[in-house]
Amino acid sequence: MVIGRRRSVVSSESRPERRVPRVVRTEEEWRRILTPEQFRITRCKGTEPAFSGAYWDHHEPGVYCCACCGLPLFDSGTKFDSGTGWPSFFAPIAPEHIATQEDRSWWMVRTEVLCAGCDAHLGHVFPDGPPPTGLRYCINSAALRFEPASKRESQ
Ligand SMILES: [Zn+2]
Repeated sequence: MVIGRRRSVVSSESRPERRVPRVVRTEEEWRRILTPEQFRITRCKGTEPAFSGAYWDHHEPGVYCCACCGLPLFDSGTKFDSGTGWPSFFAPIAPEHIATQEDRSWWMVRTEVLCAGCDAHLGHVFPDGPPPTGLRYCINSAALRFEPASKRESQ
């Protein structure tokens, strides 16, 4: 549990020039906005069980947005079936929409993937993905909110 360790204080200096709107909320505000499962995963770096989430076997065209702040994160065109039971993508919708940092928990060195808008924990990225990037963004369904392409076009 890392609640409170870096609550809602993000200096602009630590992040280079970005057009991503920053969303800063307190832990209590996130608790009110999110479901308990979303809160556990996105704000406490949790992981949903494999094959349990809403999107691991989801194939509609559209955009996967941050469940916390709504920032578009992944396009369905980059989603692939990794067989892991988590939604997997080979690239983010825009490089500046995600942030990464080293994660040394659980006796492993992994690269954590976060929303650049609100620092939500999304999942991890691994170097065993398909072309063209060779990356596998392994993301929790609970960190995402899907927007179907049909809905976005009609807006
Ligand atoms: Zn976000």
